[in-house]
Amino acid sequence: MGFGADLTLFEASDDDLRNALKSAELPTLLPSLAYITGDLSLLDPDLRPPIVPVAIGRPAQGGLSAEQQEGIRELALQVLQKLRGDGFIPTPEGDERSVLAIMEYLTGDIPEDYAALLKSELGLPQQKVIKPVLQEKAKESFNLIIIGAGMSGLAAAYTFAQAGISFTVLEKNPDVGGTWLENHYPGCRLDTGNFAYSYSFAQKNDWPTEYTERDEVLRYFQEFSKRTSLRDSIRFGTEIISARWDETASRWDIQVKDDQGIITTYNANFIISAVGQLNRPKIPQIQGQELFQGAWMHTANWNSDLDLEGKRVAVIGTGSSAYQVIPSIYSQVKELVVFQRSAPWLLPTPNYHDPIPDGQKWLFRVIPEYHRWFRFYQFWTNIKGRYRYSKVDPNWDRFANGSVSEANDSLRKVLTEYLETQFSGRPDLLKKVIPKYPPYSKRMLRDNGAWAKALTSPNVTLATDPIERLTEGGIATQDGQEYPADVIIYATGFNASDFLQPMQIFGMSGVELHDFWQGDARAYLGILIPNFPNFFCLYGPNTNFLTNGSITVASESAVNFALECIRLVIEGGHKALQCRFDVFQEFNREIDAANQQMAWGIPEVKSWYKNQFGRVSQNWPLPLLEYWARTRVANPDDFEIW
Ligand code: NAP
Repeated sequence: MGFGADLTLFEASDDDLRNALKSAELPTLLPSLAYITGDLSLLDPDLRPPIVPVAIGRPAQGGLSAEQQEGIRELALQVLQKLRGDGFIPTPEGDERSVLAIMEYLTGDIPEDYAALLKSELGLPQQKVIKPVLQEKAKESFNLIIIGAGMSGLAAAYTFAQAGISFTVLEKNPDVGGTWLENHYPGCRLDTGNFAYSYSFAQKNDWPTEYTERDEVLRYFQEFSKRTSLRDSIRFGTEIISARWDETASRWDIQVKDDQGIITTYNANFIISAVGQLNRPKIPQIQGQELFQGAWMHTANWNSDLDLEGKRVAVIGTGSSAYQVIPSIYSQVKELVVFQRSAPWLLPTPNYHDPIPDGQKWLFRVIPEYHRWFRFYQFWTNIKGRYRYSKVDPNWDRFANGSVSEANDSLRKVLTEYLETQFSGRPDLLKKVIPKYPPYSKRMLRDNGAWAKALTSPNVTLATDPIERLTEGGIATQDGQEYPADVIIYATGFNASDFLQPMQIFGMSGVELHDFWQGDARAYLGILIPNFPNFFCLYGPNTNFLTNGSITVASESAVNFALECIRLVIEGGHKALQCRFDVFQEFNREIDAANQQMAWGIPEVKSWYKNQFGRVSQNWPLPLLEYWARTRVANPDDFEIW
């Protein structure tokens, strides 16, 4: 049988149930059934998923033994048969005791301070109530401008709508989605599980794959903005040119240009900047660039009209974007030369491109909140599993070992073995594809074998000698080779450290934000900058999470903090708030010191996580709980308020 769109649990035969259970994600199946039935005896200790380290990803079925897997299927079958016989599926109330018991079953003992974070991520509707801001206490009405309708901007809009604050979103593009709208190169997809790369307050049970393709991610944001009517509050095709703080009126004057080039001014008490970090494509300056006669493009500005069929193509870069483009185009082009400056570490992920099996999709549909517990388990294993592998042990000889600690070294060995297997027939390539730097010093790339398949193809060459110059007909490297090319694809990343460019933001006494930063963007909790009152950044400096969380939880946390600050201003009968300079400085000292203790902070490795001064300007170095806890409450002692 097929699990058609309409098949309900009540119509399913025993064979249907058995078939579906064959492909079920088992670690969270009994917990989900326990949750909806309220029968906590289903949390059988003998069928509990083991707590295993997940430095290289969750093991299949959470590491449950074959016997345990059969036990879970059998027990789940009985529960599903009973629900079918009863003719109705209970609506769980999500009582605290059951939720905590189920969480503990999946995670082991939960430290008390973690429980609130985990409950928030579980995102049960009854636990996601946002307290409205008491506007009636304010002497005047307040309004807010959100810049950007990507992932963070929409999260902010949703939250402020719940809190009862009037806002307008200004978006330069014609649609929502930010980076997912702009990037549409072949192969573009999530390399974070999409259950985790979705809002805790807008979870979804019908993802087609676990690492979803770009169109589906974009559709998620589009549908979210329609379902919540947030779209009505977005002015598309509207780009911010500048914002100026008016000290007398305590408000921002914001100059915007619409898609007709018409300039208008908005006023707002608060600005939320949600402009992202990765949207200013970086095209490296290479000698002779003007001579090249062929076509060229950056991955983020993909020209779909440029037909690559039968062409000689050069791709510069081997980061996340290149990793997705190269396997998607190599079979259609005549010749492909990949210019690699640093080899990437690959994170083995066998199901990276696989659809979620039909049986599993059906179970997600008919068992309420199963998808939520699955997302919860993904989230937990990610935040608990990887952080320690990225921490530097100061007593470890990283130059001798190519790793930053014993744990990191064990990971290096596993990842090296993976590469050895992938490139087993090509010793010439193997010596080029093993990175020289420790794992987690740069972003790892999820791999299901697609990389080796592309690089070992007869029409593909991996060039590792540094690029010297472009010529009329291609790319010349320092070893004297010249590689002919009809098309050059720059997969060279973004000017990530140029935060909030090209906007001009004038704060107290007319100081411009980029003059204040002097090329070294910093913000308290990545959100607040002294001299820029009532101005909040989302996905700001030092809020990128590598081994310690996800970008969605970081953005939701920053939105919460901004809301709590705004609540402080409005409910306290004030006009404005700014971060104290000493608090900002102390925070930066702490974050800089902690980043130096992480694999991505070691001085000998360059990456987009660092700015021109070698400071890690992107990443959050502490456990996620630290960010989450610090963004729960706005402490008046940290601010100047007037
Ligand atoms: P990236 O990680 O910065 O990679 C750029 C690549 O270009 C690197 O291999 C870099 O080499 C190389 N490069 C840069 N300048 C060069 C030059 N002058 N000569 C030769 N090589 C040069 O950029 P990205 O791949 O676009 O990814 C950026 C970030 O975007 C990712 O880390 C990720 O956060 C996000 N992203 C996410 C997804 C996803 O979720 N699916 C997909 C794409 C991107 P070096 O390493 O030696 O500097």
